[in-house]
Amino acid sequence: MRWKRRSGRATQPWRLSARTLITCSISTIIGFSAICASVMIDLRRGEEVRARQALDNMAAGIGADISRNIELYDLSLRAVAGNMLLPEISGVSKTVRQLILFDRASTARNFGNVQVFDASGRLTIDSSTLDPVPEDRSDAEFFQVHRDRPDAGLYVGRPANHQGQYAVTLSRRISTADGRFAGVVAGSIRLSYFRDLFARLTLGPGDSLTVFRRDGTLIVSAPFDADAIGRNLARAPAVTRALTEPSGWSSSYGALDDLPRLLVWRNGTEPLVVVASKSWESVYAVWRNEAAQIGAMMLALSVFVLAATQVAAREIQLRAKVEARLERLATTDPLTGLKNRRKFDQTIETEWRRAQRTAAPIGLLMIDADHFKRYNDTHGHQAGDQVLVGIAVCISDSVRRAGDCAARYGGEEFAVLLPGSSETAALAVAETIRTKVAIWAGDAGNASISIGVASVTPSRDSDWTSLLNAADKALYMAKAAGRNRCVAVAVPKPAEAAALAA
Ligand code: GH3
Ligand code: MG
Ligand code: MG
Repeated sequence: MRWKRRSGRATQPWRLSARTLITCSISTIIGFSAICASVMIDLRRGEEVRARQALDNMAAGIGADISRNIELYDLSLRAVAGNMLLPEISGVSKTVRQLILFDRASTARNFGNVQVFDASGRLTIDSSTLDPVPEDRSDAEFFQVHRDRPDAGLYVGRPANHQGQYAVTLSRRISTADGRFAGVVAGSIRLSYFRDLFARLTLGPGDSLTVFRRDGTLIVSAPFDADAIGRNLARAPAVTRALTEPSGWSSSYGALDDLPRLLVWRNGTEPLVVVASKSWESVYAVWRNEAAQIGAMMLALSVFVLAATQVAAREIQLRAKVEARLERLATTDPLTGLKNRRKFDQTIETEWRRAQRTAAPIGLLMIDADHFKRYNDTHGHQAGDQVLVGIAVCISDSVRRAGDCAARYGGEEFAVLLPGSSETAALAVAETIRTKVAIWAGDAGNASISIGVASVTPSRDSDWTSLLNAADKALYMAKAAGRNRCVAVAVPKPAEAAALAA
């Protein structure tokens, strides 16, 4: 008998399992989805910031224009209020008085004529004519405010239809040197001024601009809504904040259309407050489109990857099954169903190393059918094969521990590797096998087996050929002693083996 020691440790190649493939694919999909979601959230935040900036710029631009015009107009009113009390004014002609009191501001487009009322509310001077039609405005809101409150300053009236045109009155009190009420100077801004101003802007769908008086009265809005003019919206939460904070933004329902809106306000310190707003619907319109497209692409990609993964996983499982079957075929003896010589050689190599590491004994049985040539000659080759199968069954029935390896070593020889078995334990297993064969062979033409037994706790510098040699020698001794028996021999130490070889 010749045994060859296989060089090197058998290494298992890395294989991609179906489960690993599915886990990797799902992790990749989750990872990509998370990245996409994070990018989309960032884009959404960007849209919000951009919309806020655009509204802020719009509110600031409109606010600056309104402030500048009101300031200029107010300068004219202040001039009239101041000059009215000059003693020289009463001494000059009406024409000269007009020239002294009124500058060009009173004739500006969209601004009404400036009128002076005396302390009883009667119209005394009008910038548009030397002979104004008599008029009594003592019941007008602006007149009563200035009469009753010396500190009213520039008073912005409620929008009202005066002489066929919607306008907002701007007025100042005329006080004597000792602070007594001497009348009111009043002018007006027509709402057409605001409409012209808004017309310069391009408002998108869902955009809106609103100008409020400081008490929350709506002066004008774009898109234009005639019904809303003059309504007091101070109670709407966003308007309340816009009236109390100099500038800022909020997310709230629109006071006029009840839509969820992004509102930005400016010029909180001016007499008028500008609120620019955009519906959230329109803020996110473009983003929503992009998100839907990217989401759809991600979904399609995920479905494709999952489908491809499923196909690949099925292929891998199929291949694994075929490989396992081929592996079984490649390591199994076809006649007896035991492991073949190739598998036995791999197993003894592995188990020998393990026994070296754990310092555990390892037992080996070499089994040979007695006078098998004669049996074949007597009963035929087919019957001989049946005996070999019977012996294999007796061996398998007796060797049941995990790690034990029963193999057909060649012809009518078998080998049984018993990791962890001492010589006594191995001899007991051998005897069990021999007895089973003896009992069974009573019906099979008196076939018998001889078994050589050896066991050793391998030292670091030994190899398994010493165990095989010892078991083989024990088998030879069993044959020599008359067959149908089990014989055990001790495995020589490496030093003894070297001396024997020499
Ligand atoms: P011993 O007791 O000394 O072992 O005598 P033996 O006749 O068994 O030994 P020998 O080596 O002389 O003969 C082995 C025989 O085993 C020869 C061969 O015909 C037979 N044999 C080997 N393989 C098979 C097999 O697969 N099937 C059958 N039926 N016989 C086999
Ligand atoms: Mg033989
Ligand atoms: Mg034989």
